[in-house]
Amino acid sequence: MPTLGFFTRALRATFVVLFFLALASGPFAGNLFAAGAGSVRQSVTRSPATIKLGGVSYTDARAQFFQLGYKASYNAAGGVLTLRSGASEVVFTVGSREAKLNGLRLFLGESVEVYKGAPVVPSIDLERLILPILRPSRTDRKPIRTIVIDAGHGGNDSGTRNLPRKWNEKTFTLDVAKRLQALLADGSWKVRMTRTDDRFVELSDRAEFANNAKADLFISIHFNAVAAGSDVRGTETYVLTPQFQRSTSSAKSGPEDKVAYPGNRHDARSAVLGYHMHRQLLAKLKSEDRGYKRARFAVLRLVDCPGVLVEAGYLSNDGEAARIANADYRGDIAEALFAAVQAYDASVGVPTKAP
Ligand SMILES: [Zn+2]
Repeated sequence: MPTLGFFTRALRATFVVLFFLALASGPFAGNLFAAGAGSVRQSVTRSPATIKLGGVSYTDARAQFFQLGYKASYNAAGGVLTLRSGASEVVFTVGSREAKLNGLRLFLGESVEVYKGAPVVPSIDLERLILPILRPSRTDRKPIRTIVIDAGHGGNDSGTRNLPRKWNEKTFTLDVAKRLQALLADGSWKVRMTRTDDRFVELSDRAEFANNAKADLFISIHFNAVAAGSDVRGTETYVLTPQFQRSTSSAKSGPEDKVAYPGNRHDARSAVLGYHMHRQLLAKLKSEDRGYKRARFAVLRLVDCPGVLVEAGYLSNDGEAARIANADYRGDIAEALFAAVQAYDASVGVPTKAP
């Protein structure tokens, strides 16, 4: 298929370029450029102080949040840093990748550390995830014209299943997608679906469809599963992992972390989108918070617009599967996604003028 070939070639080319970039920034290049470029770069990023620990750039969290008008309280014994401003609260725990942002579980690329007695937070997490959410006004507003809804799986790809009850993920994702489409149809947006019936669509074709449609927003709908009979249940929301960071499920960094994908051009907006999605889903469904996470799912990598992938619940959990099989509950999921689009639009979109 030409599309797939193009993406594969493009990705391979990106890897090759990155490989040489990595060589160029190795020890030899360091000798050539360390004094000049190094010191300039430091002076730009020095406020608040950033340091490197184990190859990861960290920022002094208290200094950063002080600049934003947050009050900090740090319990050094427990390693818990709490930052508050008005109704906004962020909680970091030393040694943990899990943070809390306005009550939501949020997974960082690397764990929070202590440097010279001060709690420090991974700089990429601050710049690409937390600050865009807390200060959306710093992100340029851009109108939403076209929204692409992606019902996960389809055709011979059933997705996850609840085997005893013969429930398939592909059926429920399409149902929620259609409900969301109906809700969005009343707005001023153009709404497109990657599939409207039970058919198989390649992941790369879903992204290409969104890119051809000049999508301003991409919403991929899924349901999760683990081994049958498990207690695991709840809602997860994913946005694309930023470049130079490992995904939530990765135990350590790898070469893939160095690649910049088309989706990475929209990290800040995706961060805001994912936040509103996770927040609205949990508020509406009252489901267990499995976390706001980052992954390099194919559709998120390849769409050239802000994108989100929601795993609204677990079909492998009989209780949650029964809720998902209920049409009213699927209506609630669609309403939460709709509310999130509205919140995102109010935050970083351009409000449409009244006629
Ligand atoms: Zn799925």
